[in-house]
Amino acid sequence: AVRQPEHELDEPFYRTCQEPAVDAPREKAAFVMLARNKELFKALKTVESIEKHFNQWFHYPIVFLNDEPWSDDFISSMNATVSGGARFEIIPKDKWLFPEWMDTADAKQSIAQQGHAGILYAGMETYHHMCRFYSGNFYTLPALQEYDWYWRIEPDVDFYCSITYDPFVEMAKHNKVYGFTIALPEEPRTCPSLFREMADYKEQNGFRTTELWKAMVVPSWVPWPFRSLMAMFRLRDKNGDAWNKCHYWSNFEIANLAFFRGKEYQGLFEHLDRSGGFYYERWGDAAVHALALGMLVDSERVHHFEDLGYRHDWFYQCPANAPGGQLPDSKLLGDYKWSPEREGGLGCRCECDGAKTRNYATYCLN
Ligand code: GDP
Ligand code: MN
Repeated sequence: AVRQPEHELDEPFYRTCQEPAVDAPREKAAFVMLARNKELFKALKTVESIEKHFNQWFHYPIVFLNDEPWSDDFISSMNATVSGGARFEIIPKDKWLFPEWMDTADAKQSIAQQGHAGILYAGMETYHHMCRFYSGNFYTLPALQEYDWYWRIEPDVDFYCSITYDPFVEMAKHNKVYGFTIALPEEPRTCPSLFREMADYKEQNGFRTTELWKAMVVPSWVPWPFRSLMAMFRLRDKNGDAWNKCHYWSNFEIANLAFFRGKEYQGLFEHLDRSGGFYYERWGDAAVHALALGMLVDSERVHHFEDLGYRHDWFYQCPANAPGGQLPDSKLLGDYKWSPEREGGLGCRCECDGAKTRNYATYCLN
């Protein structure tokens, strides 16, 4: 679980539709989408969805990021679709490719081996670059310097509910640093040494154990069969406590740039980078973000946008009172305490199938 028992501290900002405050002051914020030219069609689908459900009222800009030059087709199609202005940025090579101290021939060999071992995406060099980029260098891009907040989007995403309030304004007002929709368990073969690296760093630098960290860690006193179910044993720290592998799915993120640009986070990123795990393993930016938040912030600064309908790939969240909404299947609920009072009235004009409400126990929330 990544949500602690006191999650009443993290109420939805609004439970139902609002009159969009079109004249209210905005935060210094932007959408950010990393994409490839060949993903134009799927990228357009995402942008159309966010324009229809949110940005038609709020008109935030979208910053498109690519490691290669943008095609004219991509630029003209997006300019015709984005209501708040589109910017097309090219990521400097030194922020995207291998760090200069790394033996790249050796790293490439390891990447090939990971591919042969069948580890998800791990045989693709570009995927490693992407995960490392989103883990660290993304935050220090000159192109994002002028913003305080970003909302990450990806090609092939659907938003199902109207978002009639400004999440950036609410995040700022409630002193949040990070917002997510879906939380999932990480594929353990991508990150055998990540948790140990993090836990050692935490201890060496004297970071206290936050509630959020505790929520992600299965203590060593939990009996072995249960613990092995909850966490891969080898993903343990030196005391035997194990990471439950839960992380926020990072294709959706609304987060504070100052936090991720700050000394603590960037210091942690540099440490992780030096260990080589972005290439010799296939550490994902989602796992890095989640564990870093667990180390560095209190749980009430992380917000679950449970009022948003959201889909990427075959995972989705649909607020429980969307049309057709009903109590989810008890097998899906696990020990999640579902109550109509809590779930009722959540979400604005959701178009997803509420009878298939997800993001409960089969994912990583309770
Ligand atoms: P998944 O969500 O983990 O399956 O990974 P994706 O393939 O969706 O990649 C995550 C994001 O990074 C998406 O926005 C992709 O468009 C983007 N991305 C991945 N690899 C590259 C790359 O090599 N170049 C660029 N420009 N974007 C990439
Ligand atoms: Mn994706």
